[in-house]
Amino acid sequence: MGQSNLKVILLNHTQDPEGLIAHAAKLCYSPSSVEELKEKIEKLDNGKFIEKLLKMGHMSPLEHVTFNFGVEGISRVCSHQLVRHRIASYSQQSQRYVGEHSKNLHGEKTFDFIIPPAIVNAGKKEWFEEKMQDIQKWYDELVEVLGDSGEKSNEDARFILPNAAETKIIVTMNARELLHFFSVRCCNRAQWEIRELATEMLRLVRNIVPGIFSKSGPNCVDGPCTEGKMTCGKIDDVREKFRKL
Ligand SMILES: Cc1cc2nc3c(=O)[nH]c(=O)nc-3n(C[C@H](O)[C@H](O)[C@H](O)COP(=O)(O)OP(=O)(O)OC[C@H]3O[C@@H](n4cnc5c(N)ncnc54)[C@H](O)[C@@H]3O)c2cc1C
Repeated sequence: MGQSNLKVILLNHTQDPEGLIAHAAKLCYSPSSVEELKEKIEKLDNGKFIEKLLKMGHMSPLEHVTFNFGVEGISRVCSHQLVRHRIASYSQQSQRYVGEHSKNLHGEKTFDFIIPPAIVNAGKKEWFEEKMQDIQKWYDELVEVLGDSGEKSNEDARFILPNAAETKIIVTMNARELLHFFSVRCCNRAQWEIRELATEMLRLVRNIVPGIFSKSGPNCVDGPCTEGKMTCGKIDDVREKFRKL
């Protein structure tokens, strides 16, 4: 419960991502068989080739490489934005099968929730927590009124739960979609929580394939700001942040 409790685990990813991308791309330009090409690729350092590919904008080979993330400690505000990204797969903890019944937490009984830092900084943390406790009481009351404490009552009782409710989700995205996701969601214009999530996902994948993700992040990391009048005006800070990530 509370401010940022974000946890992102890189569960799995395509083995030898650079080799697979080089293989897929070179097949487009080569008369060799798939297997002959695979042998050649294995002997090469594919970093430079991939750099060239990215510059050319030949992006489809990146779609063969996927990353699987486990995400915890985000609100439903954040997950709602995340699942707008359509070139991805998701499995999210259900509020129907998993009820938000009273749990004992710091002596109080509430479901888990996220408090935005701005609310804490405004001195409203305790106030916010009290409201969550009220919602928990209303939820428990509804479950009782609806008759059982299983999936049937949860499915309607959850209508009273807030966007602040914590959720868990497994996300799979390919490398091309990740580049797009990072460009829009690591930007200062994105909402703080999904920006934190995207930035952590970028940090994890950059460690695995720096050749693809070293210049990834908001568009201004490797070019001009594309936000026009909505620019945050902090291009130097943003570049520094993503250089050091
Ligand atoms: C700062 C910010 C503010 C936002 N505000 C709002 C808001 O107020 N209201 C709101 O509803 N949403 C809002 N969004 C969400 C936004 O509109 C997109 O739904 C979300 O970012 C998903 O991105 P996407 O559509 O580019 O791409 P993805 O779903 O990630 O797909 C990747 C790319 O594939 C292509 N693509 C995918 N599906 C199609 C398709 N069906 N047809 C054609 N091309 C496709 C597009 O090129 C797309 O960019 C906001 C996003 C940001 C970053």
